[in-house]
Amino acid sequence: LIQLFVPLNFLGFVYREIRRALTDMQRMFGLLGVQPRIGDGDHALELQGRVPEIVFEGVSFGYGPDRRILDGLDLRIGAGRKVAVVGASGAGKSTVARLLYRFYDPDAGRVLIDGHNLRGLRQESLRAHIGVVPQDTVLFDESIEYNIAYGRPGADRPQIERAARLAHLDGFIARLPEGYATRVGERGLKLSGGEKQRVAIARALLRDPPVMVFDEATSSLDSASEKAILDALREVAQQRTTLVIAHRLSTVVDADEIVVLDHGRIVERGRHAELLAADGAYARLWRMQLREHGEAAVA
Ligand code: ADP
Ligand code: MG
Repeated sequence: LIQLFVPLNFLGFVYREIRRALTDMQRMFGLLGVQPRIGDGDHALELQGRVPEIVFEGVSFGYGPDRRILDGLDLRIGAGRKVAVVGASGAGKSTVARLLYRFYDPDAGRVLIDGHNLRGLRQESLRAHIGVVPQDTVLFDESIEYNIAYGRPGADRPQIERAARLAHLDGFIARLPEGYATRVGERGLKLSGGEKQRVAIARALLRDPPVMVFDEATSSLDSASEKAILDALREVAQQRTTLVIAHRLSTVVDADEIVVLDHGRIVERGRHAELLAADGAYARLWRMQLREHGEAAVA
């Protein structure tokens, strides 16, 4: 039996190693694929680390010449404020986040951080200032500690624990058999959607970025996980400039401003209560979600 077991075990090892190498490669190609054309100018500026104001000024953009995705977008997120972008799928919401991270430059208009055009900033400096929590998080078949620390190689244990606490992940980790050393399993399958999201939040927080971007961070969650995430988000958004892109409107109720995007244009803007009273596009989206998810999803 041992003669059979050893080679099989070895094959399993080889298989896992190949899978891991492939995942790393996909990540690498993914990253290379989205930032090919944009380079730093000779006089590129460093951002200074404080919580900044973000302004989109008449921004138009298309992925190709024949189709405009954003059309004259004006948006201001004051320092430490939270602005939410909502709208139907395909409206251009994630594109706003991609321009802020400077995966692309606008065709017209400007994106400014503390008055500096993104085009004049060092990209590394820009990206170090922005924590992104994407909809789908890539987890590695490694310990939970490794997966959180992926946001900042070289982070020490107290820093990792602090990020986990802020992301409301500490209670969950404390209940794991091996705590921080517990492996999350292939592609994070051992974690629920909500737990994965909180790993993503902890990962982003570990870098302590003054700007946070959440792109539909709660769209695939059940109500209980969503509530845990919402609590984490509220805490995390304090003292940071926050852009929330949301399909589920429960995440935007407390935003300083909500803008409704439709085919790349802002069709409505205001606070939650104002927009409900206005009984326009936002109120329609809201009623639609009440019907779909029931009251639990918006409580
Ligand atoms: P949302 O996040 O609101 O669902 P997106 O900003 O992702 O919308 O996309 C807006 C539009 O741009 C969609 O029609 C989408 O198909 C298109 N789009 C998104 N990414 C690309 C891309 N890399 N190349 C071409 N078209 C794209
Ligand atoms: Mg999107």
